Parts: sequence; C-alpha cells; structure tokens
Amino acid sequence: MKLSENAVKVLEKRYLSKDENGNLLENCEGMFRRVAKAVASADAEYTDEKGIAKLEQEFFDMMADLEFLPNSPTLMNAGRPLGQLSACFVLPVEDTMEDIFEAIKNAALIHKSGGGTGFSFSRLRPKGATVNSTGGVASGPISFMKVFNAATEAVKQGGTRRGANMGILRIDHPDILDFISCKKDNSEITNFNLSVGITEDFMKAAEHNLEYELIDPKTKLPAGKLNAKNVLDSIVEMAWKNGEPGIIFLDRLNKDNVVPKLGEIESTNPCGEQPLLPYEACNLGSINLYNMLTDDGKALNFAKLAETVKKAVHFLDNVIEVNKYPLPEIDKMTRGTRKIGLGIMGWADILCSLGIPYNSQKAIDFADKVMGFIQENAQKASRELAEIKGVFPYYEDSVFADRGLRLRNATVTTIAPTGTLSLIAGVSSGIEPIFAISYIRNVMDNNELIEVNQVFRETAVRENFYSDELMRRIARVGTVRDMEGVPGKIQNIFVTAHDVSPEWHVKMQAAFQRHTDNAVSKTVNLGHTAATDDVREVFILAYKTGCKGVTIYRDGSRDLQVLNIGGVK
Ligand code: ADP
Repeated sequence: MKLSENAVKVLEKRYLSKDENGNLLENCEGMFRRVAKAVASADAEYTDEKGIAKLEQEFFDMMADLEFLPNSPTLMNAGRPLGQLSACFVLPVEDTMEDIFEAIKNAALIHKSGGGTGFSFSRLRPKGATVNSTGGVASGPISFMKVFNAATEAVKQGGTRRGANMGILRIDHPDILDFISCKKDNSEITNFNLSVGITEDFMKAAEHNLEYELIDPKTKLPAGKLNAKNVLDSIVEMAWKNGEPGIIFLDRLNKDNVVPKLGEIESTNPCGEQPLLPYEACNLGSINLYNMLTDDGKALNFAKLAETVKKAVHFLDNVIEVNKYPLPEIDKMTRGTRKIGLGIMGWADILCSLGIPYNSQKAIDFADKVMGFIQENAQKASRELAEIKGVFPYYEDSVFADRGLRLRNATVTTIAPTGTLSLIAGVSSGIEPIFAISYIRNVMDNNELIEVNQVFRETAVRENFYSDELMRRIARVGTVRDMEGVPGKIQNIFVTAHDVSPEWHVKMQAAFQRHTDNAVSKTVNLGHTAATDDVREVFILAYKTGCKGVTIYRDGSRDLQVLNIGGVK
C-alpha cells in the first residue's frame, strides 16, 4: 500500500477499529477491506456471490490504490455497528422550544457519529418578540445558536471527531446585524461556521445603494428597513477581520433545487459545499486526480478517469443503501432523493505536474474540461444505475421527470474540502492551490524535519536543482516565488495559495461550479495587508461569476479556525 507515514498515523488514531482497551483490531488494508465489503453488499439483490466478490475487489482496489476515497464517516463506520456513513446533514429549526431542542438533540446524535450539521436559524422569531404562552420576550436566533454551540462542545470528547456546524441567517431577518457581528469575539460560537443567506434582491439593492426590507419570520410582516450597501459593508468588514461570516446565495441554491416540490433549500453542511433540504443527508467521495495521470505522467488519463467515475458513483449509491441513518426522518429523505456528491482532490498537484500554473486561463479551461467530463460521466453512471435499480423514489417530484431524464440520484457532484482525505491520499486538498511548497514539521534536538510537496520534490530531482538546503530555505517562506536556485519556469508553475490572486481563486471556484450539481468548497486567500475593498471585490466577483457562495480568509486574521486543514479531524 502506498500510504505515507503521516496517513497511517491519522488512520490509526481515528479510523481503524479498536477494542475497548484501544488496541487496533485492523490495519489500513483491513479498513479498506471492511469498507469495500460493506458497500459491495448492497448489490446482493442484483447479483450472485461471485458478482459481489468482484465488486468488493473493485471497490477495495480503488481505495487501496488511493484513486478514490469516500468521506471520513464511511471509512470510519462502514461494516461496524454504528454504520453512519454520511458527512453532511441539514436539520430544520422551527420556531418552538420543542423543535429547537429537538434539533440540538439530533445534532448531538449526528456529531457522535462523525457527521457535520447545517442549520438555518431564519425561522426563529427575532430578539424581543413576544412569546405568547408566557408573555415574555424571545431571546432570538443568536442566543439559541450559543446553546447549539455548547451542546457541540460537550459531545466533542465522546465522538469520533469534533462536531462542526453551519449556521445560516437570511439577510432579511430582523436580527441580521447581530448575526453578522456575533463572532467578533473569536472565542464565541467556535463550533460554527457562519454564512449570511443572501438574495438576488439584496445584491441589486446593495449595488444601487438602496434600502431593503426586513421581514419578521413569525408574522411575515415588514419589520423595518436597512441600507443594503451598509449591511454588505458590515459583512465585508467582519469577514476581513476574521474570515467570517461567509455568504451564500440562497436563490441560486434553490434554482438548482431539483426537487422543489419537497421544500426549499435553506442551509448547507458545515463547509458550504452541500446544500440540502431539511432532514437530508449526503455522502461524499473524492477522486484523487493525481493518480489519474497517464503512465508517462504527461497527461490526464481520461479513460481511467471515466472508469473511476463510474465505479465511484456505484460505490456512493450503494452507501445510501447500507447507511444507518440517525433518525427516521433522515432515512426517508435521504433514501428518497439519493443525493451523492462526487468530487476531486489533488487538483493543484496535477496542474503542477502537467506544468500548468493554477493562476492561468489554461488552468481554468482545464478545470472546465475535467469537471465537465466528470459531471457528464457521473450522470451517465447514475442513468445506467437507474436502468437496473430504478430511479430515486422522489423522481416524479423532480425536475428530471419533466425532462424525461431518468436518474438514480437527484445530484451527483460536489467539491468537498477533503481535509483528511487529502492527507490520507497524500495530495493537495480539493481544488485548493498548494498551501506551502515545503514546510518544517518538527524541530527536535535542532533537527528540522522538512516536508516537501511530492510533485515539487520529483520535479526538482528531475530538473537537477534539488538540495536539502534549498528545501529548507523554501520552508522558511513557503513559496518559491523569487527564490534563488529555483528556475523561473518552475516558479511560475508551483504557485501557492498566497501567490494566487483572489481573482484567480474565484475564477477557479466558478469554473468548477459550472459543472457541479451541488456546491464547491473553496477558501479565497487574501494577503495580510489586503483591504476591505479587496474583500468586497471578491464577494461581487463570486456573485457575478455564478458561485453559490464564498468564503474568504485573510492571512493572519485569526489564531484558530473551526475547520483547519488536518487540525480538528
Ligand atoms: P473528510 O476529508 O474528512 O472526508 P472534508 O474535509 O471533505 O472531510 O469535509 C466534508 C464535510 O464533512 C464537511 O463539509 C462537513 O460536513 C463534514 N466534516 C468535516 N469535518 C468535520 C468535523 N470535524 N466534524 C463533523 N463534520 C465534519
């Protein structure tokens, strides 16, 4: 097996089965075998024992060769008693005490199993509204978010990984200004990522410096007006200060809601890549593009990619079947729409190895081509599955019924952050640029352990400029830009997140979004000295280029992040 020392460490700590004394019951290969067996078993009614064994081997090979990995809960829980395999959930929060605390309980159960939860708090009556039964006043969405946050904190120790949440409030909720600034103090609501749910009307009002109306969600009556430009400025200011809130474009999420008859999409999962209906869950999986190169390493092997997409869709569709859902409502919704989210990792690595700078039109064109190809093949695979196993149960309520497009899955593609998966596969995460070309991992007895990006190391050796001394110099700054000893051509190709301007970050996100059913996880990095105007420009560009939302992070703007790559998993 090709796993790095680091990958094995992560798997042993969190993913492999252990007995009650913490002794390992399986090795990494055993984990992939367990997962392959559990997931292949879903085909029992369609094939015989030999067919199942063949499928299991295919699934095993695909994971063990690090060509495709399902999201963490599937690796952790498949074939084990818990059996909860999804990473993403959205739970409804209705405006009653019973419903609020029911949602907290449900979130706790999901966190315990390694899943993340998203909530829209937009239905909660604003702070100061009356409570009929007691005559008192309501404390508003933000105070309840703090209760959700405390519950998440308490579950942290007992679960497979620390819980993560997404909290969303509509831009026209009367408490929106409090929401925008509620994480001004970085120690507050730490288990949440926050996004403001923005509408097209709001964006237009902001553009023309106009007022927009706030609506009381309880009474549905107008509850005052705010100047849209000023509100956008507040969001920009807070995002500049500490990276939050992000924004999501609610109308766009709903334009792509393929089962509108079942309800409105109000929230996404914690990292924003998976819009879902209330009580819907989704399991994700990612293809490691770096392992999709031709044998000579000079091109992307599209035939292999097509084959892998087909197997991956089959795999993810089977996960829906063998998954044990934490609630009957989730079971019903998730089996009803059968959404899956196939995406990629290792994008920056493959660009580097093909000599394409991330911040170039060539990279954007390639993104369109590759993701277009994945989307087309994933949909084809879902169509073929539908012929054998039937369309998803809510198909008649979907937009596909009108088009006669018979699919097994309501959605097929999502670009996940792949925080842990990319670590396991040893490649760059999701569609992000390389974070650092090399970095110092450990300083013991004055011995520095230098980690070097594998593609860069190979290139440096091949092009004859590798030296430990150079890698150490690069590690001090992370980037090879203007680095003596690195050929100019290589400097242009091996760009890091901070060498890439915000515009190229957004353009890349938009390119992937064009071919993705769900959404794209991406952080737009800004330098420490970036101004608030730069943040505003990113928001507007994301809006104009068709992104479904955007998250920015200004270097050094906060010490701790909820979802840090490799940090909290
Ligand atoms: P992984 O690489 O571990 O499979 P990703 O980084 O791709 O996970 O994240 C995918 C989704 O998994 C997130 O958007 C979120 O819904 C969920 N998730 C990630 N990290 C956590 C966490 N610590 N706790 C709960 N859910 C998480």
